[in-house]
Amino acid sequence: TIGMVAMDAEGNLSGACTTSGMAFKLHGRVGDSPIIGAGLYVDNEIGAATSTGVGEEVIKIVGSHLVVELMRQGYPPEKACKEAVDRIVKRSPSKAKEIQVGFLALNKKGQYGAYCLQKGFSYAVLSKEVNNTLIDGKHYF
Ligand code: ASP
Repeated sequence: TIGMVAMDAEGNLSGACTTSGMAFKLHGRVGDSPIIGAGLYVDNEIGAATSTGVGEEVIKIVGSHLVVELMRQGYPPEKACKEAVDRIVKRSPSKAKEIQVGFLALNKKGQYGAYCLQKGFSYAVLSKEVNNTLIDGKHYF
């Protein structure tokens, strides 16, 4: 999945996501990406979040909505993303090392963060204030 969360010049939040879907998926399977609240959620008062990875796991905790609700409670973005991943792991501790799930979040103050247990996940941050150039990012090795 490629997920994007954004803030415009007036401070309005938005988000979008697309998905490759899971490999060898069942015909008719619906992942988290097309389900608002699971793969993507934006509340313009609080923040925006999106996810990537095993959609079934994200759907079960309504992951992106959870991340936004945690930010509403005062969690900074990265901590909210980590808490969502931890909840998934808590549901299936024996699969903790295999479950590939990551979240990305942005709050109303423009703070951002992400969390993923597996390597390969990465994010990039662009800023209009710096000519739409890359100002930050992280790759999980
Ligand atoms: N989240 C997607 C799904 O479950 C998979 C992906 O990350 O592309 O369909």
